[in-house]
Amino acid sequence: MSVALDKIDSKNPANFELLGSVIASSPDDIKKAVLAAKSAQPSWQALGVTGRIKELQKLFTYLSQQHEQYAQLETKEMGRPIQGSRSSIDWALNQFKWNLENAAVFLSPETSFEDATQVHKIHYEPYGVAGVITPWNFPLSNFVMGALQLLIAGNTVVYKISEEVPLFGKAIDEAWQKAGLPQGVFNQVYGAGDIGELLARSDINVLHFTGSSSTGKKLYMIAAEKFIPAILELGGSDAGIVFEDADIDKIIEPIFWAKFINAGQICCGLKRLFVQEKRFDEVVGKLSKFISEKKFGDPNDENTTIGPMVSEKQRKLLVGQVEDAKDKGAKVVLGGTTPNTLNGAYFEPTLLTGINPGMRAYYEELFGPVLPITPFHTEEEAIKLANDTPYGLSAYIYTNDSKRFERVAQKLEAGSISHNGLDYSHPANPFGGYKGSGIGKTCGKIGLQQACRIKVIALAK
Ligand code: ADP
Repeated sequence: MSVALDKIDSKNPANFELLGSVIASSPDDIKKAVLAAKSAQPSWQALGVTGRIKELQKLFTYLSQQHEQYAQLETKEMGRPIQGSRSSIDWALNQFKWNLENAAVFLSPETSFEDATQVHKIHYEPYGVAGVITPWNFPLSNFVMGALQLLIAGNTVVYKISEEVPLFGKAIDEAWQKAGLPQGVFNQVYGAGDIGELLARSDINVLHFTGSSSTGKKLYMIAAEKFIPAILELGGSDAGIVFEDADIDKIIEPIFWAKFINAGQICCGLKRLFVQEKRFDEVVGKLSKFISEKKFGDPNDENTTIGPMVSEKQRKLLVGQVEDAKDKGAKVVLGGTTPNTLNGAYFEPTLLTGINPGMRAYYEELFGPVLPITPFHTEEEAIKLANDTPYGLSAYIYTNDSKRFERVAQKLEAGSISHNGLDYSHPANPFGGYKGSGIGKTCGKIGLQQACRIKVIALAK
């Protein structure tokens, strides 16, 4: 990515070739987009939830028809291996479908109390105009998780996608137009953080942000000054805990995917692995072997599992974290370098041991294909290590003892907990973190209801 004053270039991270450009939005464009959203909002709200779902069904149909094109674009623009891009589009469409099928029930007025003389109902109303700012790592899912529930709830949206994936932003915009949805309900603006900040400061009524914790904190302050709600889906440094009773041969593959999906560039990825001492060498050895057998390289190759990172900027950040760990005594068990045979933002899948609290790799989020592995002795120690982070998005526990699983799950400070590699991201579940990983939830019934202002109407009979 590079941002000139008037355009944003999109580059393929696998070879740094220019893919295309989009015109960057100006401060005036943001004002116009917010005004358009404001004037379209009353008629969007007036459609009612079933009317809005009918409209959004057209978008879903259009997006589904473009499945392969979007997967190819995701691979080109952010380097995800093509098989992974297809799964990521599937995941987004699955979330979309669930919302179309279930939102009407969850957003209908609900009787909270009733007797012979009165009936009280909870009503879910839109805020008005939502500003939605998203990152680059799952371009369609980020749109679905950031904007869809707000739209279904009757809000109109001004949307800013990351400057790393402007062509995907264009594709979403085009989908809205081509599917024939109403003008002004969804409005895209393009640019980097400065444009995001202008959007956050504009005349919006609710802010949704998905991205880094540092940006999330800045935006939370802007929302506070404006006194509007902010839903913040931020970073994570999720722990994985392997207890000695776990079936190691069964959990190596789920650990691999929890960490190395999308070259480790996922907020809720497994970012720190803790293994009970007795099985430590076995896990490190088996995981190294498993990773070594996976294809690393060209994301267009159908057999590739780990491709490049999204950009040189992200790769350099990761290199700095790994070098810091090495300088302070960490051991590189696997990988650890940038291969000179590949001319892109590549970093080899890497395992580190010998991590200590003085290292950036201990306390910072590692947003790339690098996994630190640390031994522990007791359950208490594992819980303490897992919780020793400013983040709290999710956590992964590997044990065949279900009582232990439940006990540990209760004590971990995280918004979602997985047992033996189970995928907790069913669309019915809310998603969002504890501590520095965010505020508020998206997805599921709770996400839909958080996209709304809640009104109680008490009626005398
Ligand atoms: P990431 O590391 O995922 O790129 P960022 O928080 O930097 O995380 O970016 C996520 C989104 O937030 C992108 O769309 C980016 O342009 C936007 N952004 C970055 N800085 C700001 C800011 N200060 N105010 C508003 N939006 C921002």
